[in-house]
Amino acid sequence: MPETATPEVSATKKERAEAAPAKKSKPLNSFDIAQAQFDKVAEYLALDPSTRELLRYPLREYHFAIPARMDDGSIKIFRGFRVQHNDARGPGKGGIRFHPQETVDTVRALSMWMTWKCAVVDIPLGGAKGGVICDPHNLSQREQEQICRGWVRQVVKNVGPISDVPAPDVMTNAQHMLWMLDEFEEIRGGRYPGFITGKPVDMGGSQGRTEATGYGLVFTLREALKERGIKPESTTASVQGFGNVAQYAIELYSRLGGKVIAVSCWDQGDQVSYTYRKMSGVDLDQLRSMADRFGGIDKNKAKAAGYEMLPGDAWIEQKVDILIPAAIENQITGDTVGKIAPTVRIIVEGANGPTTPDADAQIHARGILLIPDFLANAGGVTCSYFEQVQSNMNYFWEKDEVLGKLDVKMTTAYMAVSELARRENLYMRDAAYAIAIGRVAKACHERGWV
Ligand code: NAD
Repeated sequence: MPETATPEVSATKKERAEAAPAKKSKPLNSFDIAQAQFDKVAEYLALDPSTRELLRYPLREYHFAIPARMDDGSIKIFRGFRVQHNDARGPGKGGIRFHPQETVDTVRALSMWMTWKCAVVDIPLGGAKGGVICDPHNLSQREQEQICRGWVRQVVKNVGPISDVPAPDVMTNAQHMLWMLDEFEEIRGGRYPGFITGKPVDMGGSQGRTEATGYGLVFTLREALKERGIKPESTTASVQGFGNVAQYAIELYSRLGGKVIAVSCWDQGDQVSYTYRKMSGVDLDQLRSMADRFGGIDKNKAKAAGYEMLPGDAWIEQKVDILIPAAIENQITGDTVGKIAPTVRIIVEGANGPTTPDADAQIHARGILLIPDFLANAGGVTCSYFEQVQSNMNYFWEKDEVLGKLDVKMTTAYMAVSELARRENLYMRDAAYAIAIGRVAKACHERGWV
């Protein structure tokens, strides 16, 4: 198996990639999609059948029941999962989701995507994911604590700082992580802050985690502009979302001299999204002062401050150089991709899965550079890795040191993907997958697994 960070690709491999898997007719769930993406790249990399068989599925899955005593005295049984897709490159890493519609297939897909995300930024971690079928909206804090502690009790033998390190995800937060850490430490009889990440800074969390995803995104954007000889201060951008990722992306991009002219977000009261535009450039601090903790901007305050209020999807049709989808999935689709202005040169995906495959094909054909989600938003997991390292050492770095290390990781990862894409004339998403899957396959080979 060649070192696929710099793979040798023959014309035959390219032909195989082009002839790659026909779409299935049945509706795809997330795991089907993750496997289809893998199959395409496995074909391109000409992986042998046993490596494909190994990487198409998780290495291990734990399915378990979590009994919890409810506030009314009754016992309720919740279903929990931990899926470890691959740990050839290092301990598993991935969040724990609390969601009423959680399915094991979603968890499987997310665990596989974590493997590729950690590999593309070349951190020594594998991919895992966990979940509990529950709706925290209908659970008291005490009931949620029971579930967190119950989750740990069921998998305590199979997770830990040197095997699999959980983190927060949908509807879980730092408090949930601390309950889980406490349970783990009670059972193991010691202090193991490296068991879990996403902890508050004063309880073993890392400086810089809040900024990490948005800043990481801008580190990759900065490199893309540099490669093209474009000065950031000569560019404009339009952003979908005004949450954690978007706000810190706007912060650093503005600091580089770029001008954001439009921001779109969800309006909880009206149950629609709006785009707020100011052609002279939005004022981040001012918008922050008008936003709630969910990243919704107060429309009346925005109007009073001179922002034009446009329909929610207007962010995509702005005549800017850069688009940053940083809200939710499936936003750049076959229906909306045609609205992208001819001025747009770069799309940086902050959200997970904002672009559908049919839109990808058009973006590629138009020659727009797309920095794919699992590279562009990998700053978050990279900083979680730094949290794990600091926790294991029980020695914590200053914020500048964390962000400096983050810059090095993101820049190096971007350059490797960009170089492969240029050399092999690949779409950036395919190049990123080729590097990530190639690295994991190589680790499995070198360990003698396949
Ligand atoms: P967030 O909840 O802080 O913010 C989400 C933002 O999206 C809010 O401003 C909300 O108003 C807006 N939004 C929701 N629906 C919208 C719509 N239909 N149109 C326009 N705006 C809409 O979330 P976040 O942490 O910033 O995450 C954003 C995306 O980035 C998600 O896809 C998430 O999975 C992904 N991501 C986040 C991180 C992280 O570290 N936070 C890491 C990797 C990936």
